[in-house]
Amino acid sequence: MTMDQQNTNGAYAGDTANRSHIAARERPLKILIAGAGIGGLTAAIALRQQGHEVILFEQSRFANETGAAIHLAPNCNGILRRLGLFAEDIGGNLMLGFDEYTPDGKLRVSADLRGQQSDMWQHPWHLVHRVHLHNALKEMATCTSGVGKPAQLNLKSRITKVDSQNATVTLESGQVFSGDVVVGADGVHSKTRESIVHGDIKPYPSGKSAYRFLIPKEKLQSDPATREYVEKKGVLVMWIADDRRLVMYPCANNTLMNFVAIHPASETDAAGDDWNEGGNKDKLREVYKNFHPSIDTLLSYVDEKELKLWKLLDMDILPNWIDERLVLLGDAAHPFLPHQGQGGGQAIEDAASLAVMLSKDTPAAEIPERIKLYQKCRYERANKIQHFTRLAGRDAAEVKEIESLNMMEYVSYNFGHDEW
Ligand code: FAD
Repeated sequence: MTMDQQNTNGAYAGDTANRSHIAARERPLKILIAGAGIGGLTAAIALRQQGHEVILFEQSRFANETGAAIHLAPNCNGILRRLGLFAEDIGGNLMLGFDEYTPDGKLRVSADLRGQQSDMWQHPWHLVHRVHLHNALKEMATCTSGVGKPAQLNLKSRITKVDSQNATVTLESGQVFSGDVVVGADGVHSKTRESIVHGDIKPYPSGKSAYRFLIPKEKLQSDPATREYVEKKGVLVMWIADDRRLVMYPCANNTLMNFVAIHPASETDAAGDDWNEGGNKDKLREVYKNFHPSIDTLLSYVDEKELKLWKLLDMDILPNWIDERLVLLGDAAHPFLPHQGQGGGQAIEDAASLAVMLSKDTPAAEIPERIKLYQKCRYERANKIQHFTRLAGRDAAEVKEIESLNMMEYVSYNFGHDEW
């Protein structure tokens, strides 16, 4: 060492910068998350496991979570398993195959995935009740055991304003919170998104609506008209016509059958795009009146009090998901139509990716650069899957592109991908 590397106090060149860098690394980040849905809660779990302080703001009091099920395809199920959430522990059913029927009840395709799951994917494909998943994520994010500090969950806390330069959020009550970074996980009607695109890009009706409902499996099993459809355990069943379809799969330890009934929006005229708007059972039966008579029998078991009608929204691709210290994930960044069951899956992939970029020792000063990397890593894949999802939901006659896809590559990219 030469004298000129030392200053008169005996310190060495670069020490001041090194010390402040190390000091910065020693402080966990304070991360504010808007929205405690599937994406926000997964991000909270992954970020607390990195050692950060996480504060969630959720507008609802979770009183309106309703029944429906969700796919955990291998691409996102593997992430949840690494975080410590195992779908089989919350009543998840393995997806063991699918049957596709014509509207008049002829079996068109039948795929048996029994025994093949482990050959095809690195992780299992589960079908779970949404409420069970949501409760498990909430517990893992906020529990006092587990890795890292529990996330703080503030309910009835609607965010009305975000300052992306200073990483602050303002609640409806007027309270202001500041952190190192704000994560916008506030779903399709995102408020945080407005700070990035300033209202230029908004969700719009896709032209399709969906009924959602659950029917106890034993009811369909005990009726000879519908027994055939539920007797193969763990199988997803679809009836597909040109402009409408009915999809059914089991959840909740195989005790409930979950349905999504997608049809032209003009036929049922949903008043809004709230997931929890009630539906009319006679209207539902009317929409499927030209299907095989067993479908009407099946629909006769719907409990109208639980029937929901939901206007499906789409949105143009956002040019950008980030601004300084604000970063979007999940439906806030790329709202998904339900045709591939990948909206929740992509929100989970986003959350995992963000936690990798904001790893344990991230200095607060590096956040803007790190979230740029997150966007770089996620943007192409999420938008591509969104594109495939649109194709999968379009009326058969319209879609030429589907015919040109290599099916194995398509399935593997959409559902089997694992780079975590
Ligand atoms: P959300 O889950 O919508 O969560 C956003 C949260 O933010 C909500 O809790 C909301 O109350 C809160 N919020 C909104 N605004 C504010 C604010 N200003 N301040 C504070 N909080 C706010 N996806 C799949 O992967 N597989 C499936 O099989 C599947 N099936 C589906 C079936 C149905 C019937 C539906 C409706 C959706 C389905 N999806 C599925 C889609 C999936 O559920 C969504 O893509 C996913 O929930 C997106 O997660 P998210 O966290 O981004 O948004």
